Amino acid sequence: MALRTTSLERLDGGAFDVLVVGGGINGAVSAAVLAGRGASVALIDRGDFGAFTSQESSNLVWGGFKYLESYELLLVRKLCVSRNRLIRAYPDNIKPIPFLAALDRSSPYPPWLAALGSAAYWAIGSFRTHHPRMLSPRRVARQEPVIDTSNVRGGVEYYDAYLKDNDSRFVFSFVRSALDVGAAAANYVELVDAERTAVGWRVTLRDVDAGRTFECSARMIVNATGPFIDGLNERLGLETEHRIVYTKGIHLIVDRLTRNERVLAFFDDTQRLFYVIPMGRRSVIGTTDTRVDDPFTEVTDEDREFLLGQINARLALDRPLTAADVIADRSGVRPLVVKREGGDQRHVDWTKLSRKHEIEVDRDRKVISIFGGKLTDCLNVGEEVADAVESLGVPLEKDNENWYGEPAPATRTEFYRQARLMKLDDLRHKPDVEPLSDRLWRRYGRRAFEMLDEIRADAGMGRDIMHPADYLRVELHVAAGTEMITKLEDFLSRRSKITQVIPDAEVREAPGLREVAEVLFGDDADRRLAEYLDAGA
Ligand SMILES: Cc1cc2nc3c(=O)[nH]c(=O)nc-3n(C[C@H](O)[C@H](O)[C@H](O)COP(=O)(O)OP(=O)(O)OC[C@H]3O[C@@H](n4cnc5c(N)ncnc54)[C@H](O)[C@@H]3O)c2cc1C
Repeated sequence: MALRTTSLERLDGGAFDVLVVGGGINGAVSAAVLAGRGASVALIDRGDFGAFTSQESSNLVWGGFKYLESYELLLVRKLCVSRNRLIRAYPDNIKPIPFLAALDRSSPYPPWLAALGSAAYWAIGSFRTHHPRMLSPRRVARQEPVIDTSNVRGGVEYYDAYLKDNDSRFVFSFVRSALDVGAAAANYVELVDAERTAVGWRVTLRDVDAGRTFECSARMIVNATGPFIDGLNERLGLETEHRIVYTKGIHLIVDRLTRNERVLAFFDDTQRLFYVIPMGRRSVIGTTDTRVDDPFTEVTDEDREFLLGQINARLALDRPLTAADVIADRSGVRPLVVKREGGDQRHVDWTKLSRKHEIEVDRDRKVISIFGGKLTDCLNVGEEVADAVESLGVPLEKDNENWYGEPAPATRTEFYRQARLMKLDDLRHKPDVEPLSDRLWRRYGRRAFEMLDEIRADAGMGRDIMHPADYLRVELHVAAGTEMITKLEDFLSRRSKITQVIPDAEVREAPGLREVAEVLFGDDADRRLAEYLDAGA
């Protein structure tokens, strides 16, 4: 908690070059690039970082094969280039993964056309992934026996990438990067009021956790509030060219459906692609695309039945999946950008609206608004925001591209050398879990050296803290000081993906949950534990 307290002290009465409002992927990446290039930056989110749209994604880093359907070649090219950059910058966190699309008799395209599309997709992505291939029904069955091939005409396999950990942890890596270079970042802080001054903005902020308000000032504001962008712009007195509409997408998390590290892709009955995506020992089924007017959504019985019906019809399972098999679910809205002048959008096919982002700069009021976007597009968003900030009069240092990415290969080699010499991987005896060295390096980077030190000093630090989750005691000790975990849920749902992969009732009763709260919150453990347990009661 000390980290947040220090940030709050700096925010209170502070004067910054830029205030970034919203700590989803777009706000986090903006803060990271601006602070990394020498601006004084404040970053706030009224919830936890990455706790709204950015925790509801499919965890895919992809060029958007399906956007070829709407001939958005430029968008697909841009996303493929971003995907390639991210794979290069995050070799341990973002992994290339094959997608196997099974095409049955009701699919909108025959396998040969899908194969042509995947070859085009490969070329648009500069041939940086493994090459695609076409598969006969027999080959599909051999590769993925879980697919019911009785109706399948053939398949294609092409490559994209995915986040090995969860989306909101990826978001936090940018928050951490901003903190590392001096940004004042705090979760559970809401912008409640803003007033123009001669040099920028004076804003009233509210510490949502403590219920206290205070002020700070900034030369400009970056509005990165995702689905809430129009509301904040209105409050700031802006008239924008674009606005946001929403489509809802849900995911269901079930026990692993295939042992292969591969995404399965199918067309649903509405001829829309949906996927089965690996998440550790689980599979994530999704997503859907439903027009909604309200950004606050949840998975309805109808959503659940639809998705389960679709997947049961395409897999050869011993027994169909039912609601009882769903370990956790996710529901979020895509903030999609449209022109304000576009008139009535009610008759537009919203599933065909572009997934591109737009950045608008209001020079008079000194506000930069980020409309739309994708996790995959995050480096582009960061760079465009940096250009916009410079254009509004805050000079930035040269971009050395050191505000993102994993540590250098030599640092990685040294970590693995030390881990090997101290036999770190031997500490893990559970079946079906990845080696500890991979896990610690991927999740903590340079901070993983500190963990090795702690384990060398105290063997207890190398033991699991909470069953049935796979977390070492040392991870909690380091996270407590460095990951701004304000509520227990921040750890269970975002810095880790425990609540995504373990049923809620098991998490609540997990031996070790109390110790987790004690390590994270010290004297405040009882209150934080009760807050978590009461919230779901
Ligand atoms: C179902 C689904 C699947 C997706 N799958 C993928 C995928 O696989 N790959 C991909 O690249 N993209 C995917 N996306 C898109 C991607 O997740 C989103 O575009 C992205 O997360 C949006 O991030 P954001 O920062 O704009 O918004 P958000 O993550 O919503 O962040 C906005 C933040 O602003 C905060 N905020 C609002 N008002 C205030 C205020 N007044 N004061 C302080 N804070 C405030 C909110 O609390 C929130 O945290 C998916 C989206 C959905 C819905």
